[in-house]
Amino acid sequence: MDRYCSECGTEMLRQQLGGRERPACPACGHVVWSHFSLGVGGLLVHQGRVLLVQRNIEPNAGLWTLPGGYVETDENLNQTVVREFKEETGLEVRPTGLLAIWQAPDSTSNSSWCVFGVELTHENQALSPDPVEVRQALFLKPTEAAAMEGIGTWSRWMTEHYLPQDFGLRHQDIDAAIQPKLKNPRTALFSVDLSR
Ligand SMILES: [Zn+2]
Repeated sequence: MDRYCSECGTEMLRQQLGGRERPACPACGHVVWSHFSLGVGGLLVHQGRVLLVQRNIEPNAGLWTLPGGYVETDENLNQTVVREFKEETGLEVRPTGLLAIWQAPDSTSNSSWCVFGVELTHENQALSPDPVEVRQALFLKPTEAAAMEGIGTWSRWMTEHYLPQDFGLRHQDIDAAIQPKLKNPRTALFSVDLSR
């Protein structure tokens, strides 16, 4: 990883920068500071059943997980969970709160997963899983889901611990007095509800 410069293609050297050794380009000065990745998952409980999808693609083809995926650079976490549900299951959902953050740091990368509670935006929606990414999608009783062979570790943990989902951090409208002062107008805030 990071053998060649992503900016100019020159072979990278290891340099002591900011307290540790990092890949640095001797030609253009580009430095690889860190590899972070950010994903979201969603826990949908409908009529007492939780939705799981079985992955159809690598890595982890065959694994049962909560629907979810990686955050694009131009979307906030709420938007990712809505988009991924639509893509993977065909369902339109709205997030009800941020329930948990899983983080896996190691020596070369640092990945985080934010898990939201979600609800259907309206009743009578049909499951229509993406045939490329998803092998099957099923609503299961929480006890059945947790006992499922091939369920992912954190999906099982979320299924066992986060029912019902009437709590968590919520996506907040940012105060109109503060909004113009933010450098990025897309800045999103997830917080406990301060108005209650
Ligand atoms: Zn370079």
